[in-house]
Amino acid sequence: MSGCSVPARWAAVSDVGLVRRRNEDAFRILPEQGRVVLADGMGGHRAGDVAAQMAIDTFCAELAALIDGGAAPPAALPLAVSRANAAVYAAGRSDARFAGMGATLVAGVLVPEGLVYAHVGDSRLYRWRGGCLQQLTCDHTMLQDLVGAGMISPEQARQVPFRGLLTRALGVGPEIEVDVGHADLQAGDVLLLCSDGLTDMLEDDEIVTRLRSGGDVHDWATGLVADANAHGGRDNITVVLAQLG
Ligand code: CA
Repeated sequence: MSGCSVPARWAAVSDVGLVRRRNEDAFRILPEQGRVVLADGMGGHRAGDVAAQMAIDTFCAELAALIDGGAAPPAALPLAVSRANAAVYAAGRSDARFAGMGATLVAGVLVPEGLVYAHVGDSRLYRWRGGCLQQLTCDHTMLQDLVGAGMISPEQARQVPFRGLLTRALGVGPEIEVDVGHADLQAGDVLLLCSDGLTDMLEDDEIVTRLRSGGDVHDWATGLVADANAHGGRDNITVVLAQLG
């Protein structure tokens, strides 16, 4: 199961939103290799930008080295995320300007059998198939822990003020636990990777409405960002879409 070129149409939009002064989200698509990664940075001054970019640069370099060296994506992905974590953590410790910086990360590698993915934090991966939207990642947030434990309902969860409180993020500690998964894919399936600036502004059924509105991946990416801004645009919004050929 090595990374390979699986035909897909890609589209992405990253937008600062209506409130924030800088866009601390970042993403990279490597269509030839069927690889994608998205990160949402956090930290004062410019540290969020630095954390997200460093996470992506390190992740991509490490993933390429591991896969070129013969590692299979299910093993290479979490290792590359761990090394990205180590880089962000070390930078935060060695430079006072970057103290406390961190980032979420969600990444995928297309393989003949489908998609291998990994994530840390609350940036999400969804699969859209046959009119049905399925969230493949589970947020690493205090809120998700409470919902998962049945302590608050999903309805109550929409009202809580601490939606963004992460239980896991890159750069916080020397070690990181990485969730890894595999999804099968069919022709026509759409993968959606996004930062919480999309999902804090739109419920899943509002994302579905946009995906049902016709057009192609470019129209949906642009439309989803416009929808998030129409709902307030309180955070940076990044949407990456891939439709399998
Ligand atoms: Ca965010």
